[in-house]
Amino acid sequence: MDCLFCKIIKGEIPSEKVYEDDLVYAFKDISPMAPVHILIIPKKHISTINDIEEYDESVIGHIFTVANKIAKELGIDEEGYRIVSNCNKNAGQTVFHVHFHLLAGKELITTLG
Ligand code: 5GP
Ligand code: ZN
Repeated sequence: MDCLFCKIIKGEIPSEKVYEDDLVYAFKDISPMAPVHILIIPKKHISTINDIEEYDESVIGHIFTVANKIAKELGIDEEGYRIVSNCNKNAGQTVFHVHFHLLAGKELITTLG
């Protein structure tokens, strides 16, 4: 399958790994929008949030415990962080493998729309 993030998971394209387990891979965004900008992705290829099914709920939930583990390790858990996931064109999704942006390290702009 010609998916950039699947290739990153397989190591075919290099990435700066932050965390990995059986279900999830996390790595630094190549074009950071904040001092901390990490992408957390399921190892299973899921194209968009629209394609998440009931049996994916455990891995999608797991992404959030991984996020708070990473936040604690980086020492950003108390000052705070934002998790964002874009779905399709109007949200600006550019890579069609579900991913969660973990943003931190500064006061983030509060407008979401
Ligand atoms: P989206 O716009 O789909 O929500 O987010 C895609 C993210 O993937 C962007 O923030 C972009 O910078 C990041 N990205 C795109 N290509 C690469 C890559 O080859 N390596 C890494 N580490 N990040 C990438
Ligand atoms: Zn993929």
